[in-house]
Amino acid sequence: MDSMEIYLDANATTPVLAQAARAAMQAMADDFGNPSSVHSTGLKARAMMDATRERAKALLDTGSGQLLFVSGATEGIQTAVLSALHALRERRDGGDLQAELLLYGATEHKAVPEALRHWNDVLGLGLQVLAIPVDRLGHHDLDWLRREAPRAGLVCTMAANNETGVISDLAGIAAALGSSPCFWMVDGVQALGKLPLKLAGTRIDYAPFSGHKLYAPKGIGLLYVREGAPFTPLMAGGGQEGSRRSGTENMSGIAALGAVLAALHDGQTFRDHATLSVYRQRLADALLDAFPGLVFNVPLDQSLPTTLNFAVPGLSSRLLQDLFDAAECRISGGSACSAAKAQPSFVLQAMGLPDWQAAGAVRLSIGPAVDKAFIDEACARIRACGESLRRNCMSPADNLAVEGEGITRFTLEGACCYLIADAAAKRCVLIDPLPEQVPRLAQLLACQGYPLLAVLSTSGDALHAEARQLLAEELPSLGADCVQDIDALGWPAPATSIDLGAQQLSRVRLGSPGDRPQQALLLSREGQAPHIVFTPLGVEELPAEALAQLPAHALFAPAQDAAQTLAQTLAQRAAPDSATPDLQLEAAQLAEFVAKYPDALLIDVREPYEQFLTNNLELAGLGPRQAVPLSRLLNALPDWLAAPRPLLLYCRSGNRSRQAAQALARLGHTQAWSLSGGLALLPAQAALGAALSDPALMV
Ligand code: PLP
Repeated sequence: MDSMEIYLDANATTPVLAQAARAAMQAMADDFGNPSSVHSTGLKARAMMDATRERAKALLDTGSGQLLFVSGATEGIQTAVLSALHALRERRDGGDLQAELLLYGATEHKAVPEALRHWNDVLGLGLQVLAIPVDRLGHHDLDWLRREAPRAGLVCTMAANNETGVISDLAGIAAALGSSPCFWMVDGVQALGKLPLKLAGTRIDYAPFSGHKLYAPKGIGLLYVREGAPFTPLMAGGGQEGSRRSGTENMSGIAALGAVLAALHDGQTFRDHATLSVYRQRLADALLDAFPGLVFNVPLDQSLPTTLNFAVPGLSSRLLQDLFDAAECRISGGSACSAAKAQPSFVLQAMGLPDWQAAGAVRLSIGPAVDKAFIDEACARIRACGESLRRNCMSPADNLAVEGEGITRFTLEGACCYLIADAAAKRCVLIDPLPEQVPRLAQLLACQGYPLLAVLSTSGDALHAEARQLLAEELPSLGADCVQDIDALGWPAPATSIDLGAQQLSRVRLGSPGDRPQQALLLSREGQAPHIVFTPLGVEELPAEALAQLPAHALFAPAQDAAQTLAQTLAQRAAPDSATPDLQLEAAQLAEFVAKYPDALLIDVREPYEQFLTNNLELAGLGPRQAVPLSRLLNALPDWLAAPRPLLLYCRSGNRSRQAAQALARLGHTQAWSLSGGLALLPAQAALGAALSDPALMV
């Protein structure tokens, strides 16, 4: 982990403990024997492996049960499920199967239900796979389980949940299983090293564990199998692990796991439950300070002292992740994110949480080896994240005033809304807002404090009129003008242009296709030809007679831009299919680039709330640097196109800068590169809050 990074995603994986890495190195370089060999090198390796197993057995109090080394929890889960289901099939073939159900907790890691379905299918069992419901706190419905247990063949429940940290009532589950002949698997992955687990004396048949969730490397795990529980090897071969798991053992992984277990035993490396609870409370307090209105998705006392799961009204999970990432804090969405849209967390949905909480969930998790200095730094950065939102008018409360200037674009599933503001004249207009965008826009307009002269629609869409009405209601003192004496497109009836101080907005009516009037809105500087035209359609779709009325050399900003063109010219209408150049610069080529293009301009296209937190490009003597968030690119495009010079655009991961570079290329700029992989792939040079001392020139 580099020194800048505050890693708060320990439930996903942890760094490798220094002593574990050393042990792994030793097992690879010096004690590299195959534990099945009978010579001294092999015997030495076997001794290390046996010692690690004994330590793990003692820690988990496995009694007469077996403990196998496997590659990780997913393999352990497969082995357990295969073993149980194979035994169920034998019972069935022997005419002795009453089981009808395979049960798993509704909040179980996906590996469990997927394994149940897979092996049920492969073995041709045809049992019904059912989720055990959970309550609002994520606890299994034990009455339901008590009712269904007699019909169950295998029951799978986790000891602690990976998204929420909710701790299961294993004693209650055991009681609910009663005299059912079912097998029972407990996924112990998130509990290892954080909760006492005494397996002997319980009726748990199988318990998988994973090394990489507790400071060992990826690729090593453990599977507990109760004495007498049925067993079917997943892998057959050389007969390792008593023929239960063939394949030469992962000795470096086992050595590293051994070092972690030794650290657990010595009591020096890991914090105890009480200390971790204090740490978590400090993180929770910092979060509550930073994000007014934040709600924790489970009560803290119900979950592991290393996990926090929360949502903030009005802030998406994705935005919070980007914000924390800019502060060099790694957190994760409590929900699975696809590139296009965040999927709500199925765990939180199963708990019956409201949609906004399930969709906006964020997980922050620490490993038990963290110390006070780490928590101090994490809390400071969390508070800096809150400060960044307040300064950029994005906090749920306590926002500071902002000075609006130029064009800002807001997108919603391909639809584009534009805010044009003038700081000197203190005026603004909105083009094509949608009702869903009103809360964010109203917040921004209130921070800005300029009267809203008009809310215009280019296409006459009823949703734009609805958004106008809502804005006027939300902002009675700023939005009164935008609903008075206007036509169907929101235009102030008698005016020929709207005066925005240094710029004017005029319009060209485009007729009324489908009985809906349309207009193009032309933005120009005093005494100059219009440079930007806001249109209801892209240049390819605009009818020729409409285009004939519009300035040929302007940039066109379309109301619909699913393809992320950002802006268009008439030349693109002439050659719509021409291939877009894709200039990507690898991080390793940076020095070469600087030498070749000393006059290159560096453009940070991240949003201001990210730029406030880190100023990463203090590297390689690069500069000068401009901050032009992707949402404000339209302001800079005319100058960049009029006087082309080499541009290197960058963002966090390279996606937004690539979009911007491609937009520039489509517009005819031949020297706009995107930094491939973004800041994430550069050596960390950031200093928290550096942007405060070196504010980039905002466009
Ligand atoms: N079970 C739980 C609760 C987990 O959190 C994970 C990992 O995210 C797994 C199983 C799968 O573990 P592995 O990555 O070792 O296969």
